[in-house]
Amino acid sequence: MSGKAELKTPEQLEAMRASGRVLAGALDAVEAAVAPGVRTSELDAIAQEYIRDHGGIPSFLGVPAAAAGVEPFPGAICASVNDVIVHGIPGGEVLTVGDIIGIDCGVILDGWHSDSARTLAVADVSPETFRLLQVTQAALGAAIAAALAGRHIGDISAAVQTTVEEDGFTIVRRFVGHGIGRTMHEPPQVPNFGPAGSGPVLAPGMTLAVEPMVNVGAADVQFDDDGWTARTIDGSLSAHFEHTVAISDDGPLVLTDGS
Ligand code: MG
Ligand code: MG
Repeated sequence: MSGKAELKTPEQLEAMRASGRVLAGALDAVEAAVAPGVRTSELDAIAQEYIRDHGGIPSFLGVPAAAAGVEPFPGAICASVNDVIVHGIPGGEVLTVGDIIGIDCGVILDGWHSDSARTLAVADVSPETFRLLQVTQAALGAAIAAALAGRHIGDISAAVQTTVEEDGFTIVRRFVGHGIGRTMHEPPQVPNFGPAGSGPVLAPGMTLAVEPMVNVGAADVQFDDDGWTARTIDGSLSAHFEHTVAISDDGPLVLTDGS
């Protein structure tokens, strides 16, 4: 992902917001269905149906793997339970009380991509687990607040890192946020760590998928044999929140909050 970010016009940002609205609705539908006894494949079906009913295309479905010999992604959502950081494949896994599940999803509407994730508690979770979800969500909030025209990508990165590390959790460095627009992954990269003031300048019309991934334990990642599922190396829990955000002269615009 090298090269310059494409700056979107106000009309294009509204088209991306429309895509994000479908995505937010799909995530709401999935969230409403998360409960003990539910299979992650059922959540995937809910997302697919919602997206298609609203004129969108589930963008994750059929995404080619980066690694050779790995099948394209088979779901509309990534369903990442407990120690899975990201890219969990929806299937026969059954949710139980105390689990957390990261739901990451993408939509294409009229050629425009949106990308968003949230991590949900399955019924009651432990206080530490709840704190992990709160801190990861707060890190995303801090990142969005730092997404101001004239500042730098590194300001977003530093906001995430500071929020997470102040609370004693760790930032996953193996995966980063990204520009987004006519394709799901565009320049620039948006790391969740690094110094403020570094990296490209944030310009009005830039659209970024900002996505902190936070572990309770070590930051390291291991992959399952399916080539997709990324887990914590020590089995500790991991959370992931993501929004598609536009830089504007009037402050950050969250395009995937359903508004
Ligand atoms: Mg995503
Ligand atoms: Mg993303």
